[in-house]
Amino acid sequence: MEKTPRGHYIVAIDGVSGSGKSSTAKTVARLLGILHLDTGSMYRAVTFLAQERGLDPSQIQEIRAMVNDLEWHADPSGRLTVEGRDLSLEIRTAAVNNAVSDYARIPEVRHALVPVQRRIGMRQSAVVEGRDMATVVFPDARFKYFLSASPEVRAQRRVRELQGLGLPGNYTDVLKNLSERDSKDSGRAHSPLMKAPDAEEIDTSGLTFEGQVAIIVDRIQNALKHG
Ligand code: C5P
Repeated sequence: MEKTPRGHYIVAIDGVSGSGKSSTAKTVARLLGILHLDTGSMYRAVTFLAQERGLDPSQIQEIRAMVNDLEWHADPSGRLTVEGRDLSLEIRTAAVNNAVSDYARIPEVRHALVPVQRRIGMRQSAVVEGRDMATVVFPDARFKYFLSASPEVRAQRRVRELQGLGLPGNYTDVLKNLSERDSKDSGRAHSPLMKAPDAEEIDTSGLTFEGQVAIIVDRIQNALKHG
């Protein structure tokens, strides 16, 4: 068992799709000088790899064999590779967006990914981001946040994010995909999307990006300063 380094801490950020989790987590991690782990990208990568192998979500045995065999690597800059591949663009397509919740609800997939996430987070301080960070994967995280925002604001943000990546993004389709994923992620039996009772909820609808980052970073820096 690896030893946790001195001064080690975890910032867990959960929330609904398009709440600004990813960009917030990334910037908070950069400002604090710690690792950013985007666990949604791991579920997306599993979805992409399963689709590449022609496996649909009902093929549990094959999917289990696949996920148990995958080699993950997170370098200090937060760049994540699986089987030596950087899939950051491939995992943002509509094909992955529309299917990811159906693969993420498979218990065998979660059982394979959670230990990898914990191992990465135990080695160094990190901002870990997803749906079940504060509830299941890092229940002892020192800092816990749950980000929410209205569906319309979230869809507008996601469209801008897709455009920034040079990918097509239609507002109505994005809004529909976000609501469908929210209801599947909240309704699943295994590790549903849920605010941890001890997490602080931040509604980002009326906040600027800088504002939401500042709320989190200020709280953490104050707490770290006062021990
Ligand atoms: O965060 P992002 O929107 O990229 O996540 C994609 C999907 O991965 C979510 O809709 C959810 O189904 C799944 N996910 C999850 N648990 C996590 C992170 C993401 O089930 N910790």
